Amino acid sequence: MAPVAKQYDFIVIGGGSGGSGAARRASGWYGAKTLLVENKRSGGTCVNVGCVPKKITWNFASVSEMLKDGVHYGYDIPQDIRFNFAEFKKKRDKNIEGLNGAYERNWSREKIDLVRGTATFKSQKEVEVNLEDGEKAVYTAPHILIATGGYPIKPRDIPGAELGITSDEFFDIEDLPKKMAFVGAGYIAVELAGVMNALGVETHLFIRGNTFLRNFDPMVQETLTQRYEDAGVIIHKNHKGFKKIVGLKGKGDDKLLRLVENSGQETEVNELLWAIGRAPEIDKLNPAKVGVKLARKGHVEVDEYQNTNVKGVYALGDVTGQAELTPVAIAAGRALSNRVFGSQHPLGGPHLPLKMDYSNIPTVVFAHPEVGTVGLTEPAAIDKYGKDTIKTYHTRFTSMFYSFHPAEEKKLQPTQYKLVCQGSEEKIVGMHILGAGSSEMMQGFGVAVKMGARKRDFDACVAIHPTSAEELVTMR
Ligand code: FAD
Ligand code: NDP
Repeated sequence: MAPVAKQYDFIVIGGGSGGSGAARRASGWYGAKTLLVENKRSGGTCVNVGCVPKKITWNFASVSEMLKDGVHYGYDIPQDIRFNFAEFKKKRDKNIEGLNGAYERNWSREKIDLVRGTATFKSQKEVEVNLEDGEKAVYTAPHILIATGGYPIKPRDIPGAELGITSDEFFDIEDLPKKMAFVGAGYIAVELAGVMNALGVETHLFIRGNTFLRNFDPMVQETLTQRYEDAGVIIHKNHKGFKKIVGLKGKGDDKLLRLVENSGQETEVNELLWAIGRAPEIDKLNPAKVGVKLARKGHVEVDEYQNTNVKGVYALGDVTGQAELTPVAIAAGRALSNRVFGSQHPLGGPHLPLKMDYSNIPTVVFAHPEVGTVGLTEPAAIDKYGKDTIKTYHTRFTSMFYSFHPAEEKKLQPTQYKLVCQGSEEKIVGMHILGAGSSEMMQGFGVAVKMGARKRDFDACVAIHPTSAEELVTMR
């Protein structure tokens, strides 16, 4: 006999950033009877294999860099600083388990029902869940949210590609490989290669162009690519792809791979990580069954209110391919619940956002050093507004922190800032910063740019001295 469908107001598929944000707002604020379906660990990509373990590992690498800086200030620090990566990993895992628990406690406190299993559409208002114990359950609701995220891509056409890992398995590493290769030129390749290089791993980065982070302002691309080379990352530029990957030796410590390029070049490494982008996690949900329209690369198509083409079915976060960032998914989830469940509720109302505003989203790459950006790159601003209306301000200097570093190390610490201004009012339409502390600086400047700040508003703010950030309000 078919199981009887249990009725909810809202079914959320995926307990990651976006799904959790939407469910908590719907249930915790507006009292909507909400079911959350999750087939892996609570918190999704960001908590388990994304932002959080990545940032903790970046912090770990930063400590190592800071210890080396200490020598120049006169600290007596041995040159062969040793660390226990396996021990660090255990602590990091524990920290994340704590966050898994925190997510679950929040859901429970806010009366969200959690079901563990894989959801698949049964009809436009019904979802079947293959439960962890092998049973099936059916749930129905007038409002269903797809917040199933994405997964890292591995190439399908390269023999031996499966011998490499992705960012998911990066966080399983207990012993650092001696030599590691990264393929890709985006956030993940740059962040993870930077960490490994800072920890003393011989790091190879294979990129298709001359620079990485090619969607970023040219100042960022060129300076950071040069900085990585100066710091010892072996960058294989204009890389034309691999013919095959050959496994020479076993697993773990003994793993040895030969990377055979189409150009005939060969490199041997102990680990290879593919960071060539992410694809939407959608197949198991079977959206075709209910006619949900997908875009060319499989992302769920949505309008500005996160509506799919099927009434009462919404999608947001990475599965839609829109600005794949945690705070974006959370904000879109909360806005959706404000709109669907908040209008008749005392806590709701027009003061709350009813849709996600995808303009001027500040973002940071936790590279070495960090990069922050908001708005348009200089070329994009010229394209949009015309060259004659764009004026840029640019500064380049060495932060005071590096005053005692020898010249060859100073060059490892570039700081560069750029403001892209538009029209006679010099509205700031793009801001790009690179250098120590940029990630923390970016948030406040993001507020200013979002509010429509002009160059003269920056100038009118008294500088905080001595900081690097003061350069942003004193640019000529
Ligand atoms: P997810 O968080 O991926 O959640 C989707 C959930 O749905 C998953 O838990 C999945 O198991 C579940 N699911 C999927 N299909 C089903 C199904 N059929 N049934 C039940 N459950 C299902 N962003 C930042 O803002 N800052 C960063 O520093 C940052 N660093 C990152 C580092 C890495 C290595 C990676 C990979 C990503 C990083 N991101 C970062 C991006 C960020 O993690 C994502 O944008 C964010 O997690 C997307 O949230 P989401 O809710 O759309 O999807
Ligand atoms: P990205 O889309 O950022 O970058 C993937 C890069 O791989 C592309 O820029 C492309 O560079 C390169 N590439 C694509 N296909 C190939 C190929 N076949 N061979 C070699 N290189 C290839 O994806 P990521 O996987 O790095 O990250 C996914 C998303 O996760 C990011 O876009 C970001 O939104 C989010 N994220 C955010 C972080 C943060 O906020 N700090 C950190 C990590 C992830 P090119 O075209 O130049 O060759």
